[in-house]
Amino acid sequence: MSPNVDHYNRRITYLRVSVTDRCNLRCIYCTPVNDLKLLDHANILSYEEILKVIQVATELGMKKVRLTGGEPLIRKNFVHLVASVCRIPRIEDISVSTNGVLLKKMARPLFEAGIRRINVSLDTLNPRKYAMVTGRDCFDDVWEGLEVAEAVGFSPIKLNVVAMRGINDDELFQFADLSVQKPYHIRFIEYMPIARGGNWRPQKYISSDEIKSKLNTFGSLHKIPRSIHAGPARRYRFKSARGEIGFISALSHHFCPSCNRLRLTADGKLRPCLLADDEIDIKTPLRNGCSQEDLKRLLSKAIAEKPREHHAEFLKRGQCLRPMVAIGG
Ligand code: SAM
Repeated sequence: MSPNVDHYNRRITYLRVSVTDRCNLRCIYCTPVNDLKLLDHANILSYEEILKVIQVATELGMKKVRLTGGEPLIRKNFVHLVASVCRIPRIEDISVSTNGVLLKKMARPLFEAGIRRINVSLDTLNPRKYAMVTGRDCFDDVWEGLEVAEAVGFSPIKLNVVAMRGINDDELFQFADLSVQKPYHIRFIEYMPIARGGNWRPQKYISSDEIKSKLNTFGSLHKIPRSIHAGPARRYRFKSARGEIGFISALSHHFCPSCNRLRLTADGKLRPCLLADDEIDIKTPLRNGCSQEDLKRLLSKAIAEKPREHHAEFLKRGQCLRPMVAIGG
């Protein structure tokens, strides 16, 4: 069997790397309200360590890397990491997830470092609501950052919108209109109950199907065939729109059978499934001078331990222990 194929015949080609657990926002759905425990700097993987893991992962057949966080743009010299990852030969696709607060000044350096695709989290188009959701009054910074990213040439620019009833479900048409006016790919993400003590309540959850049927009253949504860059999103477009609409339905239409991901947390844990807390420590062996072959074995173990699906286990326990800000999404 090929080294990156798991027990359920899924080919694992996508590594999501969290470069920090720190974030300059405090989003209600992502960061625990009271007990946010930050890692000591000594416990965060260095760029050299991250690069070593990515390099070995490519030798196992990984082709796609996303750099995430916390907020990756706040880590010192992040652009250098990006440039180094872009130089790793076997990587076919590299992207960054950001909240966009620092994008205005960093979009160009990131583009020059080799990144072409970017995901920006933006859950509301209302500046006051933005401050309520994220805890910071930064809407204009993100908006200006998006404009610079567009001008610099990023494509696609995806906007991640966590759909929350009573919070942003009154803005569906504004987002729909944005997808018509701008070349942005709006991704509605189902709100997941992550992080104990978090803000998630069953009443706040809205399924993708409900959003889609509301958007169909704005205009007809035309299905777009899947592409390699689309990931698990089901994609649509309004007639004559410059951008598109996508739905990421981790709860209502879970995509475990086609999951191709492995995650590396900022503190050096390989996480086989987003929503399961079983992890494999790779930092200790790395710091004890393990060989490339040992690293390969650990990555293979993580691939082998990918559960068939998160659903049963996750829904039984309700929430996973790590908050999203410490996983990376
Ligand atoms: N700081 C970066 C950002 O804002 O995109 C990267 C990290 S953030 C954890 C990655 C993604 O996870 C964001 O798009 C965010 O919306 C999503 N996310 C966080 N908590 C979530 C939750 N409870 N349910 C669904 N998506 C969530």
